[in-house]
Amino acid sequence: MLLHFIFLVKEEELEQRRWEFEYVQKMALFYKTWIEKTFSKTVEVQADEMIAKSGGRFRIVDTPALLLDHESRGTDIFHFYLTYFRPIWTDCTCEGYFADNFGMVQWGKSPQKDDIDYLMEVNCPKVSHELAHEFLRQTGYKNYKELVHDIWDKHLFASVPYEHYDSNFSQTEKDALFATIDTSSIRT
Ligand SMILES: [Zn+2]
Repeated sequence: MLLHFIFLVKEEELEQRRWEFEYVQKMALFYKTWIEKTFSKTVEVQADEMIAKSGGRFRIVDTPALLLDHESRGTDIFHFYLTYFRPIWTDCTCEGYFADNFGMVQWGKSPQKDDIDYLMEVNCPKVSHELAHEFLRQTGYKNYKELVHDIWDKHLFASVPYEHYDSNFSQTEKDALFATIDTSSIRT
């Protein structure tokens, strides 16, 4: 299966957010490894930018437009959108949404350039949240919503730390580059 990350970026922000897309490209490779380890699923990954033209009626601003884009690209591909808007409806508590072979999260805009820690701590865990829902669902796990939301609540309200991984995708607390939900209750 192909997992295709699509970073939505407004045309006028293309250059200033280039460094974020570079992070997204590394993050895609990281999630390939994480998914294999956590869900025993082999995926290929790809990461691309989707440029939203300024001021036009073609600027995507809601989830239905993303679902149409997903359909037009092919529903056998898992499309994961990193967007500049939050989903208009969702059961999720993390500004994300998922459906069959579909994921999205609002990709928080870092207050300053090259703040990798912000991308790691704010955005990366949300991606793992939605990936966990969908891969648990695909493996036939019944409580694919509740399990992830129980974990998420522990991060939000019980100070359970995220898992951190370095640039070699090894779990670490030093020189971390990526962060995910705690997978100790998921791993089989
Ligand atoms: Zn959720």
